[in-house]
Amino acid sequence: MAPAERVDRAGEEASGTGTLDDVVANVPSGIKTKRGRTTQSRYCPQCGTHLVVVPIEGKDRERCPACGFIAYRNPVPVGLAVIEHEGRLVLVRRRERPLAGYWAPPAGYVEVGESVPEAVVREAHEESGLTIALDALVGVYSQRDVDVVIIAYRGHSLGGVPAAGDDASEIGLFGPGELPKQLPPAGESPTDHWFYGVIREVTAPWE
Ligand SMILES: [Zn+2]
Repeated sequence: MAPAERVDRAGEEASGTGTLDDVVANVPSGIKTKRGRTTQSRYCPQCGTHLVVVPIEGKDRERCPACGFIAYRNPVPVGLAVIEHEGRLVLVRRRERPLAGYWAPPAGYVEVGESVPEAVVREAHEESGLTIALDALVGVYSQRDVDVVIIAYRGHSLGGVPAAGDDASEIGLFGPGELPKQLPPAGESPTDHWFYGVIREVTAPWE
C-alpha cells in the first residue's frame, strides 16, 4: 500500500446515481452486457410487440415487426474526474464492478439534464465530497466491445472534506510517485481490462 493519507468513509453522501454497473439496466434487450451475459430479447418500447433480430445496415439489430422500431445500441457516456486536492491526487476505492476493490478516479454516468462537465463535477462531489473546478479535458476513451465511453477531465478541488461516497469504500490522497500499485484484473472481461488501462493512463502524470 502506498504511503498515502487515508480518509475514512465519513457518513452517507447523497445517493450517487450512476455506477458503471447501472449501464446494465440501460442497455436494450438482447445484447451482450459488460458482465458478459446476454439479456433476453424483450418488447418494443413503442408498441409492445416482441422484437426480432434482423440484419440492418450490416449488423444484427432488434427490430419491431409491427411498427419498425429499431433498438440501436449506443455506448453510455461516463464522466471521470482526475482531481488534485492540496497537491495530491484523489482516488476512491471502488465498491462496484467493474474493478470493484480497485483505486480509481471518481466516475459516473452522464444524465440527461446536465452537460458532461457538469456530470463530472457532480460525480466528483458525490464520490469524494469535494467541490471541484475543471481545468482541461484529459481524453475520451472507448473500445468497440465496451458499452460505455469515458470522458475524463482534470480538475482541482475548491473546497470540501474528502469523504468516500456511496460508490466507494474508501478515499485516498496520493502524492506524486505514491500511486497505489494495482495488478491487472484477473479474468477475461474486456471492460475490466479496458478500464484498468484507462485508469493507468489518466493517472500517469502522478506516477
Ligand atoms: Zn413496435
